[in-house]
Amino acid sequence: MDRLHEYRTLIAKVDAKVADVTAHQAEHLACDRGCHTCCAPGLTVASVEAAAIAQFLGEHPDVAATAEALAKARPWQDTRCSFLNADGACSIYAVRPLVCRTQGLPIVVEGGQLTACSLNFRDGLNALPAGDRIDQKTLSTLLFVVDQRFGGGERVALTVDGVRA
Ligand code: SF4
Ligand code: SF4
Repeated sequence: MDRLHEYRTLIAKVDAKVADVTAHQAEHLACDRGCHTCCAPGLTVASVEAAAIAQFLGEHPDVAATAEALAKARPWQDTRCSFLNADGACSIYAVRPLVCRTQGLPIVVEGGQLTACSLNFRDGLNALPAGDRIDQKTLSTLLFVVDQRFGGGERVALTVDGVRA
């Protein structure tokens, strides 16, 4: 059995939910390739997410070479995630972590507050149907459980060196 099977299943479910909400709310979303304010530096990922990225880099030497070159060239001078390329696109898009997959959508954060990227939902979030809200606590709990079953561990820097450590 693939050690990352449960993580991949979780990601597939999250992607399906994201696709659903995106289809319903497309007119309120500015998210597009090249928009990257949300690709902040200093993010960390769960160990299972790091393992998935490291495995992908191992299987795709071209992507790994690009990621290594970006880490050296620092096209965004550390103002963005080190996996963001000079064109503003994610160099590991296929295996980007969970937090990047829900970015921009309406998220219910700790305390019940509903938030979204300031570039989206310019008319506000008040009329948003309950089914189009993503609950951060639920996502965090599911990822925690999957990560624990994978083996758990410290969170890992979202960098090419971090995920390979
Ligand atoms: S992994 Fe990709 S999508 Fe996520 S913050 Fe980095 S560049 Fe952006
Ligand atoms: S979340 Fe915001 S910054 Fe990120 S792609 Fe969407 S609109 Fe752009």
